[in-house]
Amino acid sequence: MKESPVDEAVVPWFGLYLNGTQTASEAGQEFTSYDPSNGLPVARVALASPTDVDHAVRAAHAAFAGWAATVPVERGRVLGRIAAMIREQAHGLGQLESLDNGKPLAQALSDIEGAARYFEFYAGLGDKFGGETIPLGPKLVSYTRREPYGVIGEILPWNAPINQAARGVAPALITGNAVVAKPATLTSTTCIELAGIATACGLPDGVFQVVTGDAEIGEALINHPLVRKVGFTGSVVTGRRVAHLAADRLIPTILELGGKSPHILFEDADLDAAIPSVYQAFTFNAGQICSAGTRLLVHDSIHEEVVARLVELAAQATLGRGVDDPDIGPLTSKDQRDKVLGYLESAAAQGAAVLPVGGAEPDTGYFVRPRILDGVTNDMTVAREEIFGPVLSVIAFSTEDAAVALANDSDFGLVAGIWTRDLGRAHRVAAALEAGQVFVNQYFAGGVETPFGGVKNSGYGRVKGIEAAHTYTYVKTVTIRI
Ligand code: NAD
Repeated sequence: MKESPVDEAVVPWFGLYLNGTQTASEAGQEFTSYDPSNGLPVARVALASPTDVDHAVRAAHAAFAGWAATVPVERGRVLGRIAAMIREQAHGLGQLESLDNGKPLAQALSDIEGAARYFEFYAGLGDKFGGETIPLGPKLVSYTRREPYGVIGEILPWNAPINQAARGVAPALITGNAVVAKPATLTSTTCIELAGIATACGLPDGVFQVVTGDAEIGEALINHPLVRKVGFTGSVVTGRRVAHLAADRLIPTILELGGKSPHILFEDADLDAAIPSVYQAFTFNAGQICSAGTRLLVHDSIHEEVVARLVELAAQATLGRGVDDPDIGPLTSKDQRDKVLGYLESAAAQGAAVLPVGGAEPDTGYFVRPRILDGVTNDMTVAREEIFGPVLSVIAFSTEDAAVALANDSDFGLVAGIWTRDLGRAHRVAAALEAGQVFVNQYFAGGVETPFGGVKNSGYGRVKGIEAAHTYTYVKTVTIRI
């Protein structure tokens, strides 16, 4: 697909977000973001230099003390106003997210409601989250304080841009930190808009900064001596690099990485409820979601029926431009589309059946129809690696122990889904699975309230829920002889 030329009079410009306003980069560089369904330019975006990162972090550091000293209830009020303004602007933000990322409008709006929920949830936590007292007898008083780190560097992926920005920024802010966020270059615009909303809602200048760019800018952020913790969401390869850089500086990180999540259908599953959920688990956002359920482990006795019903659903999928709100939008980049097509070839070469599910993809745009791969074994590449596209690998099993063994035989450990009517089995299997979260009888269950994160190559640290307030603070123990 050819990307169309940029008409500067028509294509909107987005600046770095520094000190309460959008700014050109010091070197005047910029890049263009394109709609992945048709190659039309969506935005021109200022491209930060390492000098811009330095300015952004220093200003955030300067703003930090005042924000940390603001009484928690007042910080909460600011976050509450941000939640309300995100909702007021949801339509425009949804259009922008959908154009920039390619996702169907309804899914973009759902991400934006999620972003509002993060600010709403943490708005209410400011005046409720605190330390504890420790009993040391009558001569000593001991208590803990939850202290903000200072400047947090938030490095973000492109698959749910504003939602993931809110997931890190809201708990960091409520606990008194300042944030310098670096969105992915494919999708920077809504993070910049979010920072503008925060300023309009009374967040002091400098407390939430946005710098743009790729690895060089991400590394400049991690290496900056005034950055005290890094929240990273992205791929395993980059996460490993981020962790090395952070280790050199002895600063902590949160790593939210990929997944190859097993979705287990036992023979007693309620198939009428399970099948639409299994389908959504690998096709939502065209499969570009870390928690996608991409390894379907299905009991032998229902295997044939389940596959036939999934193929039927996949064949009905509508594909189209995100803002036209189809079932499935384009993948966000050509690289991602090519990577997914490569996995389909590898599946066929290694002996899996790539089942036919309807017509060809549209001629323009980075589209991939949902694909169901049957007869997959857990050693095939498509069962081991994260594909990040609408591709489901189906693996049959015959016993509960075999299902658990297959589920855990993975380098990843982000999410696992279970469908069963047997309560004992649900608890037994949930306990046995190596995963940060287990969904029973509903995939993608939970919300901003429920802690989220991985084990194994899916990363470490927890976001969402009250847990995230721990993540963005450290414990200080004060002990006083009286
Ligand atoms: P990526 O690792 O390529 O990039 C993520 C971010 O890191 C981008 O902002 C990128 O510019 C930046 N970056 C790249 N190289 C860097 C470096 N050397 N130093 C610092 N920053 C650097 O990931 P992606 O392709 O944008 O996102 C897709 C991945 O994200 C998938 O693996 C997906 O599973 C994962 N993800 C995880 C979660 C989660 O919560 N666990 C959520 C969404 C996405």
